[in-house]
Formats: sequence, structure tokens, C-alpha cells
Amino acid sequence: MLSIEFFCPLPNGLHARPAWALKEQCSAWRSDIRFINKRLNTHADGKSSLALISTGTLFNDSCVLEISGSDEEQARRALELYINSAFIDSDSIPSGDAPHVAHPLPRSLVRLNPQLHHAITLASGIGVGTLRGWQSDNLQRYRQNPASPEDITRLEHSLATLAEQLNLRLRGLGGESKTIISAHLSLIQDDEFGGNIRRLMNEERLSLAEAVIRNMEQICNKLSHSASDYLRERVSDIRDITEQLLSITWPELQPASAFIMTEPTILVAEDLTPSQFLSLDTRHLKGMVLEKTGRTSHTLILARAASIPVLSGLTVASLEPFTGKPVILDGVCSVLVMEPNEAVHHYYSVAQRLADIRHQQQIKDASLPALTRDNVPVDIAANIGSALEAPGAFACGAQGVGLFRTEMLYMDRDKAPDEQEQFEAYQQVLLSAVGKPVIFRTMDIGGDKQIPYLNIPQEENPFLGYRAVRIYPEFVHLFRTQLRAILRAGASGNARLMIPMVHSLDQILWVKQELQKVREELASQGLRHTSHLPLGIMVEVPSVCFIIDHFCDEVDFFSIGSNDMTQYLYAVDRNNPRVSPLYNPITPSFLRMVRQIVTAAHRRGKWVGICGELGGERRYLPLLLGLGIDEFSMSGPRIPAVKAQLRVLENDACRELAEKACECRSAEEIETLLGDFTPEEPSRPLLALETIVFNEPLTSKEQVLQFLCGNLAIQGRTENPLELEEDLWQREEIVTTAVGFGVAIPHTKSQWIRHSSISIARLEKPIDWESDMGDVGLVIMLTLGTQEGINHVKVFSQLARKLVNKAFREALFAADSPHSLLELLNAEISF
Ligand code: PEP
Ligand code: MG
Repeated sequence: MLSIEFFCPLPNGLHARPAWALKEQCSAWRSDIRFINKRLNTHADGKSSLALISTGTLFNDSCVLEISGSDEEQARRALELYINSAFIDSDSIPSGDAPHVAHPLPRSLVRLNPQLHHAITLASGIGVGTLRGWQSDNLQRYRQNPASPEDITRLEHSLATLAEQLNLRLRGLGGESKTIISAHLSLIQDDEFGGNIRRLMNEERLSLAEAVIRNMEQICNKLSHSASDYLRERVSDIRDITEQLLSITWPELQPASAFIMTEPTILVAEDLTPSQFLSLDTRHLKGMVLEKTGRTSHTLILARAASIPVLSGLTVASLEPFTGKPVILDGVCSVLVMEPNEAVHHYYSVAQRLADIRHQQQIKDASLPALTRDNVPVDIAANIGSALEAPGAFACGAQGVGLFRTEMLYMDRDKAPDEQEQFEAYQQVLLSAVGKPVIFRTMDIGGDKQIPYLNIPQEENPFLGYRAVRIYPEFVHLFRTQLRAILRAGASGNARLMIPMVHSLDQILWVKQELQKVREELASQGLRHTSHLPLGIMVEVPSVCFIIDHFCDEVDFFSIGSNDMTQYLYAVDRNNPRVSPLYNPITPSFLRMVRQIVTAAHRRGKWVGICGELGGERRYLPLLLGLGIDEFSMSGPRIPAVKAQLRVLENDACRELAEKACECRSAEEIETLLGDFTPEEPSRPLLALETIVFNEPLTSKEQVLQFLCGNLAIQGRTENPLELEEDLWQREEIVTTAVGFGVAIPHTKSQWIRHSSISIARLEKPIDWESDMGDVGLVIMLTLGTQEGINHVKVFSQLARKLVNKAFREALFAADSPHSLLELLNAEISF
């Protein structure tokens, strides 16, 4: 028998894709191949991907492949090559997810043996709550139907009606739909299905509703524990027919609109419409797992604005067995943690504490002006969907509203808001802006924002259809009402007007005529309104880019709607997950297009903003800034981080970068360019007040390393706290860093540290450092950059020498504030 020993190189662990790829490699050989995870002592047949997944292998786990058989020598060579070179590629995240770089899972979490489901982050953050399916609990309302003597007859009647309906639907169907409906039909005709409901009613004396639901729960429970993907996925079919059966029996209970939450909840759904999201009580909503939503769907945009973290990449069916169980949604590490144990909860309270500190810090920074390091001012504004969001956005440091999606006012109701209602909402925003500019985008109805009361017929391609400015001539009354409300509200502040989805000059000429008519009307009625309402257009249809000069004669500003522009430029549906890897605005073509828009507009003295999601991606800020974008508008919670990022950028360096990026030949080349672009920063002292942590409630080694690395990220000393932590743990594995006397000196030389640092944690109570040198009450953590040469050895040996000195040690433990600790160390050690 031959073996290959290796550490799992996959940042996301051995999930479905790499397991499948490894299985393919193993299956090419006659030899028996066993995969062993030494950390967990789990074994699997290398030729079964399901078995490989079930080993629970995570990044850096120590693993072995054991090969025995007639071709073991060739197999070993080929597999070794595969593991060392190509294996890691099978873990890659599709390029559409580029902004969310795959991080290794922090060891401070993995060591606690959490039960993880890997996912894709759509909105970052952490949420703790009970897992609930969007539809699942809606069945509860049926349970109120009491048992009655007619129950058995009603059941037979409902089963027969459902079978009849499914048979009818089957006619004329083909492909997938036919297969699914046939499967449903055979399920309800299965003796087991009806038989079990009858048994529950007869033997357990349950009401019909109760029996139907219990039957579903029993079948789903069995299916969801099956090892077969196929069987597990049948859970949603059982749900589906159960719901149909219930709604046939009690049609009056059918539309269940309200989803009531009474405790912190993580919601799971295939997708939600914006109005479904808006109907949720965000006090209890702590996170969402949306199986099918796109990166820039409006639901997601609303969720980000409400600071609700969102994951995708998990199916509703796979989560069904966890309904009602406690979970933690971790949008930072892109995992859903099932039934967390106490230690895992602690990990997340530390993570939450770090997030709170970061947030407080950002809020403090938010009031600082938005300037680059070389003092070039940039406008940072907020996107809002309702007047209620405005104060929060300003508190985050918005210097204006760059996009008020007014269409949200028209949604989720049965008639359009009248002029007075709109006037009040618009005025409210202008008043809370106290003189800062507010861009009102006129209603962008259509696409994925359907308004039932307008009776616009369903379309094959709603995004290419009748939407936004295109519908205004037909609904001119509605449009004029909105213009009146904006002009009137404009008298109370600094209002601007923006028209969505414009693609030709005649559209804006028509709008201007309407605007003129409305002004005259208001004047003749003696109604107070603004005489100054700068007019702009959204640049979200590619045709506009070629006639910016003509538009400059007619409008005052432009704002690039990168969400739509991306889909129209590449012909990629923004909400279709199957093409989402292609939905990437950071390509040479997109950047060149932005350059062309900005150059043409600036030449004629007009400014250009960006208000799509791209505008709030801090990773791409240097590129967009370098291309000359004047205003960045984003959801409020993103503003502090973007402003902080802005302060480390230099305008000229960004220009140079953007020019280079426009010459790149692929998105990957641009990403590499960006990766190498680290703005120069003034150096920082190794040890400072900001790196000293005093009496935080940290009770384990994991928590200390997690907190200290997280703190370095908050202080801007690392961009990669998780990678840095991983480096520390690797060192820790060689031999413990406890040095006796209650002190530990974890240390690493790492590429992930931007400013070499010494962090200090003075703990409330000594903790176990996995060493026989006793517990530890003082942690001195050295994280030094790779450029430091042998400096780290010097610092380390100086520290060690000093620590041997009893008086010095006692003074360290006796220091009563971060200040005195800092003074003590600075006096004794030359860093
Ligand atoms: C855009 O398309 O980028 C945009 C900001 O508009 P919306 O997302 O509302 O379509
Ligand atoms: Mg748009």
C-alpha cells in the first residue's frame, strides 16, 4: 500500500465541487483509494464524492490518501501531482463573486467543531436566530381547523380533486415540468401517502389538517436523513403537494400573506420579492438564506440597506431538516452554522463585539470629510428606498442622497400614492438632508419591480421590456403627479431629478417638455415649488455612452446604474444565478466604457456619479476613482468603510492604475493588478494604545487570537485578519508559545500584516494556553511583516530577556490601564 500525506489546501473545505473532482481523479485507477482525515479520524472511499464530503474536511486539515492495488504506483504519482497543483482550483469561487474573496475559515472557529454549511455571501454580517422557511410555518394556520366527522370524506374528495388538477396540468406539458408534475401525481396516488393520513386520523385522533401536516413532517424527516441527494431534495415536493392539498381543502385560508416572527429569525426562501421582504418585521429578521436570488436583485439591495446579512448557494430542501433549530448565519466566512454549541456561540459573541467596535469606529470616522490622502474631495452619497432610511444614511456619513428609488413608494399596495403622500415623503427626506443634495429618481417601474394595479401585461423579458421612462407616456398622469410632488417638495431643500433607463435623446426632450408643463401648472395654481431642479439621467443602457455629448446639451449630470448597465452591456440577466459568473462589471470593456462616459461628460463640464452596487464596493474604489467618477452612491451601511478606504488612496496612483486596468486583457488580469496595488501609507508604531486590549471578556486561546487579529483589522493594520490568524495558529502548532510566568507570546512573520504590530491582551482571568507552563494572563502577540528581515528575532529576544525579570513582569501585571502598560513597555524596550 502507498500513501500521500497532505494538508487540505481548499479554503472552503472539501465541499461538493472539489469532492466530485477528487472522486473523478480517484476513479481513473483500478486500485482501492481511501481518504482519511486525521483531525477528525473520518474515512471515505475516494471514489464516492458523497463519502468524501461526509468526512467534514476543512482547510488545512491533515489528510492521507491510501492507495492499494495493481496500479498503485502510477495512481500515487498522478494523484500527488493533482493534489499539489490542480486540486485547489476545484474550490474556486465563480468570478461573479469576485468581491467576496474566499477566506480560510478561522481556526478559532474550526477548532470548536462547528457544524457548517458552506454558502456564498450576498450581504455580509452575522445573524443569530432560529431557522425558518418562508412557507413552512404558514401551514400553521391550517392547524386551527378542528376535527370533524366529515374529515375522512373531505380527505378523499381533496385527494381526488388534486389528482384531477394535476392530470389536467399534465396535458400539454413537456420536459422538466412534466417530470415534476408526474412525480407529484404519483406521490399523492401512493397508498402510503393517503394511507398514513387516514391512519393518523383514525389511530391518533388527529384532525384532518393536523394529520396532513404530520404526515408531511414524518415523510420529510425520513427523506432528509437520507444519504442520497436525490431523496433529500424530494422534501420540497412533499411540502408542495401537502400545501396544495391543504389549500384545496380550505381555499379560504389559501393566501397567507403575513409571516409573523416572534423571535430572532434566520429566514430561508428560494427568493423573496421586494414587497415580501418589505412586509417582514426587521426587528426579528436576523438574516436570510435565499437560494435563487441574484447579486443585485432589489430584495438584496433592500436587505443590505437594512443591514440584514444574506447567503445563497444553499438549497431550501437541504436546510429543511434544520427548521426550528438555532443557527448562526455568518456572512463574513460564508457559512451557515447549525445548532451551534456554547463555544461556537462564544466565538460569535467575540465576532459581534468586534463588529460593534468596528461600527462605532466607522461612525466616528463617518463625520470626517470624504477626501483622498492627497486631499481630493469626493462625494459619497446614499441610496435609499424610503424616507425612513434617510436619517440612518446621514448618520453613516452620507453627504447627500445619490439615488432615492421612489418606485418603492408605489409597491406593495393597491393604488399609486397621491401627490400629497409623495410630497410629504420627499419633503421629509429633504428636511433630514438639511441642505445636502437629494437625487429623486422618478419611478423605475417594470423589470423586476412589477406594480399590479398598473395592469402591465406579463412579458417574456421584463428587463428588456416596458419599464421606467418607457411607460411614462402611457401613464403620463402618474408621471406628472410625481413631478409635481418633487417640484413642490424641492422648495424645502436641495432637490435633483433623475430619469431611469433613458436610451435616446427624444426621451429626455419629452421629459423636459412635461417638466415645463408641470411648472406652468404649479405656477398658475400659485403653489410653492422650486425653480431650481438640476436634471440628470441614469446611464444604464449602453447606447447612451455614445451620445453623452448630446445629452450634455440637455442635462446637468449623469449617474451610472452599474446593476442594469452590467446586464445590458454583456446581455447577462442580473437575477439569473446560472449566468451570474458572467455578471462582473470589472472587465476591460466595462472600465473602458466608464472612461468614455466620464471623459465626454467632463469635457463639457458635467459630473458623473455611480449608484449601482459597484459604487459601494470598496475594493474597486481605486479603479473608479482613477477613472474620474465624481460621486459614489451606495447603501448607507457601506459608507463608513468606503470613506475609510478613500482616505488611504492617492488620486494620481489611482489614475495610473485605472489606465493600466483599461489595457488589461481579462478580468483576472485586472484583479491581479488590484491585488498588487497597495496604497503607500505612513508607517505606524509597532506598539500603540490601539493594539492594547485591556480586560475584554476573553476566556480561551481561540478567543484571544480571534480578538487580537480582529482588532488589528479594525485599526487598519491588516486587511486579512483571518489569514493572519491562520499564520499564527500554524506557528502555534509547532510548539506552544506560552513562555511561563503567565505569559504567552504568539508570533508570526506574515504577508498578511500591513503594519507590523505588537498587540497586548491583559486578561481578566488566566486561560489555558495548551501548555504545561501553566495558565496565561498576559498575551503579547507579535505580527510582523515579511519585509522585517530579522527584526522580529531582535524584538522577540528583547522581550524574552525583559520577561525573565521578575520586577518587570510584576509591573506588567500590575499596570492599571492601557496607558501605563504602553509607557512601561516603551520605556524598557526599544522597538
Ligand atoms: C442600477 O441599475 O444600477 C440602478 C442603480 O438602478 P436599479 O438597481 O434600481 O435598477
Ligand atoms: Mg437600474
